[in-house]
Amino acid sequence: MREVLAESVPEQTMVQAVLDSKFDVQKALDLVLSQGSKQNVKSSNEDAVIVRKTTKGKTRDSQSARMESEIVPKITKMTVSGKKQSMGFEVPCLIAEENGHANTLQKGLLTEDARVASGVLETVSKSSTLSSQVAQISEEQNTVPTPVKKSSKTKPQIDVKAELEKRQGGKQLLNLVVIGHVDAGKSTLMGHLLYLLGNVNKRTMHKYEQESKKAGKASFAYAWVLDETGEERERGVTMDVGMTKFETKTKVITLMDAPGHKDFIPNMITGAAQADVAVLVVDASRGEFEAGFETGGQTREHGLLVRSLGVTQLAVAVNKMDQVNWQQERFQEITSKLGQFLKQAGFKESDVAYIPTSGLGGENLVTRSQSSDLTQWYKGKCLLEQIDSFKPPQRSVDKPFRLCVADVFKDQGSGFCVTGKIEAGYIQVGERLLAMPPNETCTAKGITLHDEPVDWAAAGDHVSLTLTGMDIIKINVGCVFCDPKEPIKVCTRFRARVLIFNIEVPITKGFPVLLHYQTVSEPATIRRLLSVLHKSTGEVTQKKPKFLSKGQNALIELQTQRPVALELYKDFKELGRFMLRYSGSTIAAGLVTEIKE
Ligand code: GDP
Repeated sequence: MREVLAESVPEQTMVQAVLDSKFDVQKALDLVLSQGSKQNVKSSNEDAVIVRKTTKGKTRDSQSARMESEIVPKITKMTVSGKKQSMGFEVPCLIAEENGHANTLQKGLLTEDARVASGVLETVSKSSTLSSQVAQISEEQNTVPTPVKKSSKTKPQIDVKAELEKRQGGKQLLNLVVIGHVDAGKSTLMGHLLYLLGNVNKRTMHKYEQESKKAGKASFAYAWVLDETGEERERGVTMDVGMTKFETKTKVITLMDAPGHKDFIPNMITGAAQADVAVLVVDASRGEFEAGFETGGQTREHGLLVRSLGVTQLAVAVNKMDQVNWQQERFQEITSKLGQFLKQAGFKESDVAYIPTSGLGGENLVTRSQSSDLTQWYKGKCLLEQIDSFKPPQRSVDKPFRLCVADVFKDQGSGFCVTGKIEAGYIQVGERLLAMPPNETCTAKGITLHDEPVDWAAAGDHVSLTLTGMDIIKINVGCVFCDPKEPIKVCTRFRARVLIFNIEVPITKGFPVLLHYQTVSEPATIRRLLSVLHKSTGEVTQKKPKFLSKGQNALIELQTQRPVALELYKDFKELGRFMLRYSGSTIAAGLVTEIKE
């Protein structure tokens, strides 16, 4: 048995198995191996339970239970239904423990950041025998970098820019994220908009209405258009970044309904990292706007987040205006408060538009409202017109290919699929790609854009790639697929210029953080505080500060637990930006300035 199992199983377990199988070694082996896989399933179930528990209030025990099984990174498995499955980097609490920040960090890591991990299917737990052997083997393979094979076919030259213009009947693609405080009405607003655009058929809508009535939540019917899973419905919150497509006069919009619940901010970052523009929904009702706007509310945090992640244009839906009788004073009060804040957050006034709406009533969504309550003081655009008038962002089509994996799932065919937004360059079917990490190549067998197979896709497109010649187990959310000839850099140590948000505890050396970068969420430590910089000139005002406090600009060095694929901000804007989170809130936004090792 030792020969087969090596050191991966404790003596005790083997002895027990031999006794249980009445000294039949073959049976005993089977027993040990099957125990291993059962434990996997069990630990993934435990995970789910714990995550749910933690949203209410968790115990120390549950944390240690999690830690035991999560020291090893989670990896993906195929789904039973063949439907796609989210997965994410695991977030072990080790750094927190080591640095003595356990108690304060516990909450953040366990509640919301655990969500990132909870999308993962089955854990490969430390005790698992078979899987750990597999992991060992694949690790060994990993240590030998795969030589980059040259593509045998020469790429037929396509004029991507010209093709892009012709595509979609000349309509530009735009990725839109919907953000805002929980219950601001995001799902209702977008669900109703899709319904009015004819994207949801009457029968389905009727079904949602009936079901939501039955569940005693009639007012949620429109939100259900977007909140597809049962659990979301039960809780009445959107948990994943669901995606849908709709068209305006001049654009094809990929809609990402970002969740507003505090627990789910890491997913929201994923959505926002892929967005070009955003709709910020605020609740106009008395007291509600204020609740969302105060510290602790998500209006501010989401605003800062999307701006830091590169979104420059914003439509603010001042929603639930029916609740305040479409009062102009209330609208003005909200827009002036928000305006000041958004300006500070870095939005240009001319790039922010405010639209009074009622998501529930469907007013001012796809056509301008005819209601005299509104028309007597508002002559501006409806929400759809505003979305249509967003400027399409510059796409880096000329740069080397980069796609950051947002999702991995097993397809029916031989390969597997990854989804994500192409950040730079373009890709054609049949091309070879390099995944970093793990530094392995594969072939793109198919490309799907908006559920339709295409021959090529370019920067800005949100695609699904079918890949062959690589093991799905090697690919995590956050891996970057790139051009093998011009690979992205991978490191665990890098320097960055950061802007510290409104934090209570000053940041010191050794501070544990969660690095949110594109679709990655990775534990990291602030290794060095290099200097404090002048906010506007960028000059060094203090060298080697002892700590960093709110509002400061600084140069720091970060160390991640595992390698991440990064670019310098000056080379690839999209791939050189990140956020740092600690204890459940975003503490800084940063730009990569130097990649160390
Ligand atoms: P989300 O958490 O931001 O996605 O918010 P939901 O779309 O789930 O809506 C939260 C609650 O607000 C639900 O009960 C909705 O019916 C209600 N709601 C949404 N939009 C409106 C609106 O325009 N007017 C009123 N009166 N209620 C709304």
